[in-house]
Amino acid sequence: YNRQRLLVVANRLPVSAVRRGEDSWSLEISAGGLVSALLGVKEFEARWIGWAGVNVPDEVGQKALSKALAEKRCIPVFLDEEIVHQYYNGYCNNILWPLFHYLGLPQEDRLATTRSFQSQFAAYKKANQMFADVVNEHYEEGDVVWCHDYHLMFLPKCLKEYNSKMKVGWFLHTPFPSSEIHRTLPSRSELLRSVLAADLVGFHTYDYARHFVSACTRILGLEGTPEGVEDQGRLTRVAAFPIGIDSERFIRALEVPEVIQHMKELKERFAGRKVMLGVDRLDMIKGIPQKILAFEKFLEENANWRDKVVLLQIAVPTRTDVPEYQKLTSQVHEIVGRINGRFGTLTAVPIHHLDRSLDFYALCALYAVTDVALVTSLRDGMNLVSYEFVACQEAKKGVLILSEVMIPTLHLSAAQSLGAGAILVNPWNITEVASSIEQALNMPPEEREKRHRHNFHHVKTHTAQEWAETFVSELNDTVIEAQLRI
Ligand code: UDP
Repeated sequence: YNRQRLLVVANRLPVSAVRRGEDSWSLEISAGGLVSALLGVKEFEARWIGWAGVNVPDEVGQKALSKALAEKRCIPVFLDEEIVHQYYNGYCNNILWPLFHYLGLPQEDRLATTRSFQSQFAAYKKANQMFADVVNEHYEEGDVVWCHDYHLMFLPKCLKEYNSKMKVGWFLHTPFPSSEIHRTLPSRSELLRSVLAADLVGFHTYDYARHFVSACTRILGLEGTPEGVEDQGRLTRVAAFPIGIDSERFIRALEVPEVIQHMKELKERFAGRKVMLGVDRLDMIKGIPQKILAFEKFLEENANWRDKVVLLQIAVPTRTDVPEYQKLTSQVHEIVGRINGRFGTLTAVPIHHLDRSLDFYALCALYAVTDVALVTSLRDGMNLVSYEFVACQEAKKGVLILSEVMIPTLHLSAAQSLGAGAILVNPWNITEVASSIEQALNMPPEEREKRHRHNFHHVKTHTAQEWAETFVSELNDTVIEAQLRI
């Protein structure tokens, strides 16, 4: 039988492409969360549409790249340098991204951004139209089109203008902010209306969905219902679909000899000390300086732990060309240096800070030998590191200290999240984080076991595959229900 075709549209294709010659390319699949989610979904035939991350100005190169990508079921959208600058670096990364994470613009950039706003928004719309052109060219009747993230908020409208029968879903991987924040955006209404052209709109948490609905009611004056947003009898369904991970991939990795060897080395290296771990992109939203300051406070107050604990912080470089990120990097280095100077000895330091990424196996080994993981984002869409850590902890049953920002309703935290198994903290409250480090390190085995059981069950039952299947079948259902209503 024929599987339903799924066109996954995202800004970046899940490959990195390197040009080897005039008409030859080498491709490498990057196994992010979305890729493994969709690889696991067997009932659809997925195709990817997106930008390959490289500028290909010549036709020979474009043809060759398209051909190479086709073998990986990928279809490129070619964006030139100017568009990438205005749409991607400009509107997406400098305007939408900080706004959705409740970060203000750096003072010196504020007026400059205000001035370039219109041209960047124009480029954003133009880029989205280019994505729509490619989708339209490859679309076949019955396909499901799934648009991803804040880069493509204008896409649902462009697609429906091509073909009102196209099944279109849109999913946001970041938070959607309070309507009070969204209303400061000059293009607030146009963006909301274009997203509403989709049949189904999805968010990671119920809170983000609710923020989106109230933005539509307060800014556009539309009607919010428990199902979504209604505009003159037409319903856009809005719902929460929390993503998960391919937990089996992590559990299996722990059996691989290379991982076992890594684990052995790490255990020897840190024998006699408890291992605490942070894994984050080096980004403002991750709250790395706050986390390290909390660790310092813990060391200050718990002299007996000073030579018995080590914090390993993996800080993956990101957007290294942007001054604000460079500033954050040196700020973190300064704090780490100060603390190591203060509490280190001739043979050991309390913090090992790495400015680089680890490969999958090294990361799994690290997760598995960790006693306490610290995930203390100030804002995060849905943090995958917390899930990955839990998946690797069947033997150790370590403790997760988790920022409450991803937990929708604090007094109901037990229900649908890692909230019940983790120690929840307000990442801004360094005193609270310091005392939860103490609590975690001193936790009795029975309590660790109990908390781990809850988390592990949650991670195994809320997988990325299930997430993708649920979204797409909900999209199919939404379209059928809409047809019945007319
Ligand atoms: N990651 C990795 N190598 C590293 C550090 C992190 O591959 O050295 C991966 C990690 O496994 C996770 C992702 O990067 O899947 C980070 O996802 P998360 O949702 O936690 O944060 P994001 O970076 O998307 O904001």
